[in-house]
Amino acid sequence: MPHDIATASAFLPPDDARALLDRRAAVRARVDAAARAAGRDPAGIILVAVSKYHPAASVAALVAAGQRDFGENYVQEALRKQAEVADMTGKAPSVVFSPEQGDGPRWHFIGHLQSNKAKDVVGRFALIHTVDSDALARKLDQRLAGMPAQGADGAPPVQDILLQVNIGDEAQKSGVDPDDLPALAEAVLALPRLRLLGLMCMPPIFDDGEASRPYFARLRELRDALAARVGLPLPHLSMGMSHDAEVAVAEGATIVRVGTDIFGRRPVRA
Ligand SMILES: *Cc1c(COP(=O)(O)O)cnc(C)c1O
Repeated sequence: MPHDIATASAFLPPDDARALLDRRAAVRARVDAAARAAGRDPAGIILVAVSKYHPAASVAALVAAGQRDFGENYVQEALRKQAEVADMTGKAPSVVFSPEQGDGPRWHFIGHLQSNKAKDVVGRFALIHTVDSDALARKLDQRLAGMPAQGADGAPPVQDILLQVNIGDEAQKSGVDPDDLPALAEAVLALPRLRLLGLMCMPPIFDDGEASRPYFARLRELRDALAARVGLPLPHLSMGMSHDAEVAVAEGATIVRVGTDIFGRRPVRA
């Protein structure tokens, strides 16, 4: 839309802004088409633009064009970018994922999270996708206990989270082992300040997106079994990246995390 390009061009040269918005629109169209093909409502699928290594100006351009959700992997880089984007756009981050609040960007933490970084992320990300241990969950909950109440109603702070599952049983990947998922979920549900909304996974990377399908199906089955066990809907499945987003949507993703196909190839890390 020309209007979007005009606003996005406040942050990037016009040709770069147009290319970025076109790529973002193309990804959204792919996700929407995959949803319709699966008989699902495209509005039920959140597209997280994964901005790791990319500059704040690119994020600001997308915020100006109406993109709401952004994903980051590294705590320091993310916090710096959040502040820059807020300065550039005049929109403060929205730190509650559900129910929707405000109109600021919703930042998603999607990288590996060490327990000693818990203090830096609580209350700063709308959704943390990568909780994978009891120790980390406890640290997050403890940290929230020390934070002031949020919003006008003085509600105690709550952090929305997903549990990351090591779906490919890969030694080098983070995520809870599927066998240990029920115990971890029960431990998390006993913590008053964490709100468990679902599961996240990153299958082994293949060139062919179809190769991810069995892993995505497995994550959905794990979610269904867990939801029945704990008696909660656990509505969200965060799965699918640039090369396999459509497959993930076909298998039930509610959140897809796309970097390269929106921002282009990642620059070498600064
Ligand atoms: C980087 C990253 C993505 C995005 O990957 P692309 O292939 O660039 O789309 C998605 N999820 C996680 C967890 C990531 O680290």
